[in-house]
Amino acid sequence: MSETMKQIVLASRPDGAPKPENFRLEEHPVPQPADGEVVVRVHYLSLDPYMRGRMDDAKSYAANIPVDGKMEGGSVGEIIASKAKGFEVGEFVMGGFGWATHAVASAQGLAKVDPDAAPITYSLGVLGMPGLTGWYGLTELGKPKEGETLVVAAATGPVGSMVGQIAKSKGLRTVGIAGGAAKCKMAVEHFGFDACIDHHAYDTAAELRAAIKEAAPKGIDIYFENVGGKVLEAVMPLMNQFGRIPICGMIAWYNEGGLGANAKEQGITAPKLWRTILVNFLSVNGFIISNHWNRMPDFQKEVGPMIADGSVKVQEDITEGLENAPEAFIKLLTGGNIGKAIVKVI
Ligand code: NDP
Repeated sequence: MSETMKQIVLASRPDGAPKPENFRLEEHPVPQPADGEVVVRVHYLSLDPYMRGRMDDAKSYAANIPVDGKMEGGSVGEIIASKAKGFEVGEFVMGGFGWATHAVASAQGLAKVDPDAAPITYSLGVLGMPGLTGWYGLTELGKPKEGETLVVAAATGPVGSMVGQIAKSKGLRTVGIAGGAAKCKMAVEHFGFDACIDHHAYDTAAELRAAIKEAAPKGIDIYFENVGGKVLEAVMPLMNQFGRIPICGMIAWYNEGGLGANAKEQGITAPKLWRTILVNFLSVNGFIISNHWNRMPDFQKEVGPMIADGSVKVQEDITEGLENAPEAFIKLLTGGNIGKAIVKVI
């Protein structure tokens, strides 16, 4: 094979928000497959908020990326060499190939992707990990009921937009929170939220809370937690009794090396949060979707037809070129993406 493989590695651990110098582009010969392996030429790489945590040294639910190690990530590509039974050259597969143009991978853990069934990028977003996250967290932990009110932030992202659309299809009032007027317009007009609040338009949690209260006059039954920070502080006093809070993510805090640096400033204190949970009999459940991959077929069976008939809408934000992945990832962490962040690798 005469092709060269490019990959992006973690050059150093970020202190706060990642910077371009925390990443390094390297070139290597394309690897060869051993028995049971394939070589994949990556077409699209998914950028996801969880990657920020892997860049740190802190204990988490998954191992961190070592310095000089390849950045991790899910991607979809075409098999260009195979020594694995049942996997042919020319087939498309999805796997954890990392930030790279090529990867050698064991056949175990690969998922075949049918390019005739849907655009292959959907396997990274609306029909993949983030879509499953929104669907699972809402239906299993949010336990939505017709007539209730749901609030979710990062409303135009792949998780939040799935949550909003599935909740709407089940007869809930849906209130999105998003960063900026353009994203809010998209939340309502494209994704069908009943209302959307621009969190940038309010300096304090109290001001944001007043706006959310107006959009959710009967209170909040489900707060699908995507962001933490000011939104969490705004929402908690509006929770109805027996409300549910699936804790999916807290991106407002990811660049701070842990919780708390600005939480105090925003008035979020542990006693206040615990009391709200107690007196309102709330159910608060954290989850990590990698523990629930077995639900992927159920999810795809339900949501695939909804995408096909247009009742679930898709929005992708595609950056060209692997070398631009760090910049696109840095943007994602501060809301610079509009829809599912993907890098077109070739
Ligand atoms: P998105 O594509 O929606 O991107 C993240 C968005 O978060 C940004 O676009 C921005 O949207 C919003 N955001 C960033 N900073 C802040 C802030 N300070 N306050 C409020 N909003 C902010 O991401 P995903 O849909 O992929 O992921 C959403 C959440 O779900 C993340 O927290 C992620 O970590 C989590 N997640 C958890 C999983 C699990 O297994 N538990 C699996 C997958 C995702 P805007 O500009 O609209 O504010």
